[in-house]
Amino acid sequence: MMGNPLHPSQLDVKEFLRPILFGLAEEDLDELAQAAVLRFFPSGAMICQEGEPGDEIYVTVQGRVDVLKRLDDESEHYLHSAGPGELFGEMAILQEGPRTATVRAAAPTIVLHIGREPFLAVLGRSPSLGIRILVRMTNRLRETDRKAISDLRQVNQQLTQALRRLERLDRTKADFIRLSAHELRTPVAALMGYAQMMQGDPKVQTDPQLQELVEGVVKGTDRLHRVFNSILDVSRVMTGSLQILRTPVSIPVIMEGIVLEFKQVLEERNLTLKQVGLRELPLYPGDTDLLYKVFYHLVNNAIKYTPDGGWIMVTGRAMEASDLGPCIEMIVKDTGVGIAPQDLELIFEKFYRTGETSLYSSGTTKFKGGGPGLGLAIARGAVHAHGGRIWAESSGYDEENCPGSRFIVQLPLVEAS
Ligand code: ADP
Repeated sequence: MMGNPLHPSQLDVKEFLRPILFGLAEEDLDELAQAAVLRFFPSGAMICQEGEPGDEIYVTVQGRVDVLKRLDDESEHYLHSAGPGELFGEMAILQEGPRTATVRAAAPTIVLHIGREPFLAVLGRSPSLGIRILVRMTNRLRETDRKAISDLRQVNQQLTQALRRLERLDRTKADFIRLSAHELRTPVAALMGYAQMMQGDPKVQTDPQLQELVEGVVKGTDRLHRVFNSILDVSRVMTGSLQILRTPVSIPVIMEGIVLEFKQVLEERNLTLKQVGLRELPLYPGDTDLLYKVFYHLVNNAIKYTPDGGWIMVTGRAMEASDLGPCIEMIVKDTGVGIAPQDLELIFEKFYRTGETSLYSSGTTKFKGGGPGLGLAIARGAVHAHGGRIWAESSGYDEENCPGSRFIVQLPLVEAS
């Protein structure tokens, strides 16, 4: 970093400094010239380094230097250059702090070094040197501002382009998912039809072994059908093409259907499902199909993440939310494993599942049963389509103590159109 010292006779330092420090008294010029040391730096050599104390100022005599700023990731950002006759390194001296940038020789370069003490002594006596430095610094600041703005503009442009690319990719992905799910749903529906026909066949009904096999096929195809439907729903949420058809909806009737779907599993797993306040709710102007899905997924999750013997409570009330106005608020609460604070928001992302997927069991209603991670994304999409909101609350994830979770849905009461 020191550079190779050059013999002072190689340059008349005083005459070199005179035009640069124009207006300086003869004795001040003499003092600086005497204190100055000439050094040679090959291309790429470091002249001074960011973070080190600044104890010298420099003037480029020959060649060129680059002033660089270290970025977080250890790469360097180019700030500006200083050619022959230009001063650099004065900031750290004036601020009495460490160097805020690194300077490297951009070509074979000769630099004049002047120590901090003589420089400050002359600066203290010479207003003309002070003004020169002030002008230089103001220009530098202006230049830095201009560069920062142009850098920002460029980065902004790059970000916008990247965002457009990502949006395009996301759309292509959503289209692909939608088309695949659509294509796959048709043969599965046919399979389901045949399996149900077989179920009704007397030959199957009288043969317990056959009956069990056919039941397995019906269950499997039913699950496939549901997964493809969920994929289609989520692709609609992704593309913002979720259509809502508002009619007066009875929330308790919806819940009745859902309870019926889960009746068997609730019994098998000794889970209690309580309903509070639903009968008192007004009819809600919403999309029956979508609202069914919202509460179906919430109840299904409560079942999945609550150990056998626990309970699930679905509460409903009409209320006034400060921003949404008159609302219906539904809360699905369970005595399950709970949710870690860092996951409370992420679980609403499509395909997001907490923890280690391989540790989960398969089956949509078993404790910690597997799922494609779509239920909450669909629920949020459907609630948003109604102008409402949905969020989760839990004191944390704990499989032993089971702190439970609460999912809160607020749906604004708007006129059915
Ligand atoms: P899936 O249940 O298919 O994995 P969801 O989108 O319905 O997908 O849920 C996403 C994740 O949120 C689940 O994998 C689970 O980790 C967490 N989760 C959802 N509901 C509950 C709940 N009631 N209790 C604990 N965790 C839950």
